Amino acid sequence: MDAGTGTPAHVEGVAAALDGASLTRVVVTHNHSDHASGAPHLAGRFSTPSFAKMPWPEKDARYAVAWQELGDGDGIAAGDTTLRVVHTPGHAPDHICLWHEETRTLFSGDLALAHTTVVIPASAHGDMAAYLDSLERVLALNPSQMLPAHGPVIEEPVMLLRAYLRHRRAREFEILQRLGREAATLAALTAAIYPGLPEALLPSAADGLLAHLIKLERDGRARRDEDVWMAG
Ligand SMILES: [Zn+2]
Repeated sequence: MDAGTGTPAHVEGVAAALDGASLTRVVVTHNHSDHASGAPHLAGRFSTPSFAKMPWPEKDARYAVAWQELGDGDGIAAGDTTLRVVHTPGHAPDHICLWHEETRTLFSGDLALAHTTVVIPASAHGDMAAYLDSLERVLALNPSQMLPAHGPVIEEPVMLLRAYLRHRRAREFEILQRLGREAATLAALTAAIYPGLPEALLPSAADGLLAHLIKLERDGRARRDEDVWMAG
């Protein structure tokens, strides 16, 4: 699952893990470069694996493999069992998880990470409302474990998903409170909400806040005048 970045170490790591078995299919959770850009490298190293993902046409064209289209609810044969595609947009519009019903295991891509939150990049098609819906959808599956694309296994996914939802709702509440007191630019809001954050991390923090603001704008609870945000 996921094509990685195609560095020689990664491609040979895949070969070692296969231990002589053939690579027949690569499922990509979403088209961010750390998940998808390795596809042509894998295609060059192994004989004719197929590559499958939910379409994001303008991005998928960057990586020259024949993408097979996956859709929500599709079954994917894996050994003697089947994985089910769960469309979970928000972090990226084409993001999918794979659900193994028998073990209640979710291969969760970048939906959630064990020890930190996930960036919802407003400037790169991130969508906070869609992300919250995706978290709720996965929570309703009542998974027993989640296997994210980065970092350790999530052993208590229900607890983590609930904490993620609480965190996002608290952030939304904090933004609304601040805008209720005074209008602010995104930069001012970012500085107020993340005091002391290293400068290098500010753009990504601001992008995440922008995702919240756009959701609140759609909900009719915030609005903007040029680059100044205010309560709606
Ligand atoms: Zn990603």
